Amino acid sequence: MTPFKLYILGCGSALPTLRHNPSSQIVEIRDKQFMIDCGEGTQLQLRRSKIRFTKLGHVFISHLHGDHCFGLIGMISTFGMLGRTAPLHIFAHSALRNILQQQIDFFCQGLEYEVVIHDIDPSVNKVIYEDRSLTVETIPLEHRIPCCGFLFREKQPLPHIRRDMIDMYGIPLSQINNIKNGLGWTTPEGEFISSERLTTPADPARSYAYCSDTTFKPDIADIIKGVDMVFHESTYSSEDTTRARKHFHSTASEAATVAKRAQAGHLILGHYSARYDNEAKMLEEARSIFPNTDLAAEGMVFDVTSRVVP
Ligand SMILES: [Zn+2]
Ligand SMILES: [Zn+2]
Repeated sequence: MTPFKLYILGCGSALPTLRHNPSSQIVEIRDKQFMIDCGEGTQLQLRRSKIRFTKLGHVFISHLHGDHCFGLIGMISTFGMLGRTAPLHIFAHSALRNILQQQIDFFCQGLEYEVVIHDIDPSVNKVIYEDRSLTVETIPLEHRIPCCGFLFREKQPLPHIRRDMIDMYGIPLSQINNIKNGLGWTTPEGEFISSERLTTPADPARSYAYCSDTTFKPDIADIIKGVDMVFHESTYSSEDTTRARKHFHSTASEAATVAKRAQAGHLILGHYSARYDNEAKMLEEARSIFPNTDLAAEGMVFDVTSRVVP
């Protein structure tokens, strides 16, 4: 199965602590890497994760609170110093465009690569990026300012070729793609071999949802229904529900409720408030609602695997 991984670079919230970095993640699908959010210090976390800077081509910013985007200009500047030439695409609310362009013009004169800023509308569920391997959709969230999550959907992989059959019929390698795409093969003697006989079924397409800062919003589940893995912010534990409502954040129980309603495969909690010394209580309360829950921590790498239907 081709890689579909989630690297946690930062999973703290707005106030800095010594335990967590502000929000940032890397999604790796079939050798391509996509960044979600870029809090202060993200480039150092990227270094620690051993991810090659050059592989990163796209950055998705959920909203314009500093803990999700203060790391952008530093990272853009560093990429310039490292001699990057490939464009860097940044997807964010339109308010970022002028702010970031002014910073680039001032701090990064002579930048030898293009920073392409794409405006997104966080209030609608819409595909904002597509390539041969995947689509990325916005997930409207409810926060103090416009905010959205991102849903990464892998496209249906092609079936696996049966080497034994290819060898047996002496089929040229040039035909492999056609066979994977459903065309059969006709032998020199005129016998037609269907592609089903020459392949084994494809791996299921996988999906990952990043639910950034939001108050409890159960209808997120309708958009991410059946998702294999979901990250949901869990700024507070349920004893601080009043605080969560006041600041437009969620509790661990609420994150678990969304995952349960969505019939997700795996829940990852993060965006922890600086008020807690550890997250054990949040994990416990989430698991009581949605057992397959884990806590994000800097440096962790999760495999996005197909949802196991109970
Ligand atoms: Zn935040
Ligand atoms: Zn926020």
